[in-house]
Amino acid sequence: MLKATDAVVDSMFGRRTLEGRSAIVTGSTSGIGFGIAQALARAGAAVMLNGFGDPAEIERQRAKMADENDVDVAFDSADMSRPEAIRMMVERANARFGQIDIVISNAGIQHVAPIAEFPAAKWDAIMAINLSAAFHLVQATYGQMRARGYGRIINVASAHGLVASPFKSAYVAAKHGLVGLTKVVALEGAEFGVTANAICPGYVWTPLVEQQIDDQAKSHGVARDSVIRDVFLKNQPTKRFATVEEMGALSVFLCSTAAASITGTAIPVDGGWTAH
Ligand code: NAD
Repeated sequence: MLKATDAVVDSMFGRRTLEGRSAIVTGSTSGIGFGIAQALARAGAAVMLNGFGDPAEIERQRAKMADENDVDVAFDSADMSRPEAIRMMVERANARFGQIDIVISNAGIQHVAPIAEFPAAKWDAIMAINLSAAFHLVQATYGQMRARGYGRIINVASAHGLVASPFKSAYVAAKHGLVGLTKVVALEGAEFGVTANAICPGYVWTPLVEQQIDDQAKSHGVARDSVIRDVFLKNQPTKRFATVEEMGALSVFLCSTAAASITGTAIPVDGGWTAH
């Protein structure tokens, strides 16, 4: 049975609106990245998955995505903290697909600690994976997009790319930086058919968030339900988590020709959180 969001995307754009396009989605073995990769494949794009995880499970997901959507789906295990690995992933994607039209920088990690105790190594890792990787990926793919007159760059930032919360210094700094990078790329690409936008989710139900819920429940000695209600959804006016399918639907729209004039934006998908 079709999920409601898939039906909406199909009816808005027709199926396979991205046929002939190819995409790299970083951090797509899980959560939001997987949801975006799934939506792009459903829209007919060839997709390179990336991320960490159990090789057998990744291969199962890759093959299923390819079969169900009748598109080429590849996987690359490049570590987004290593610029050289990013460049090699792009080379392999070019060799496999012939070209790259869409890049989604989504891989991200989190660490929560007061500023005085924040480990410097965690700061460096978050900057490398959540911010610098997007620069290296754009740098390695922008030239060919500009030359062909079509490109779609989507950076998965966060509501924390727009507002701050305590104890998340590196994450908030990296995500604000990612929004800034998005604007610069948008200005440089605007005349050449290359758009760049940031998606700024509030809380989305993914393994990253499940882990944070478990950690907070343990450290405060309270039930998971209370953490969900009183911490995570406290400032999310819809009082529910956003879904990875919603992130996928927005990504397909931003990649479509209908979104050609939408560039340089940071779009909250946060149930109204940043409207406060
Ligand atoms: P997740 O933990 O479910 O998935 C993260 C993905 O990144 C995984 O595929 C993982 O293997 C990959 N990854 C981690 N480190 C990597 C590295 N060094 N190299 C390559 N891949 C790596 O997380 P998620 O919740 O789906 O988050 C995805 C993105 O969305 C992140 O950038 C996160 O900051 C952002 N985000 C998430 C939420 C949320 O509520 N879940 C809210 C706002 C923003």
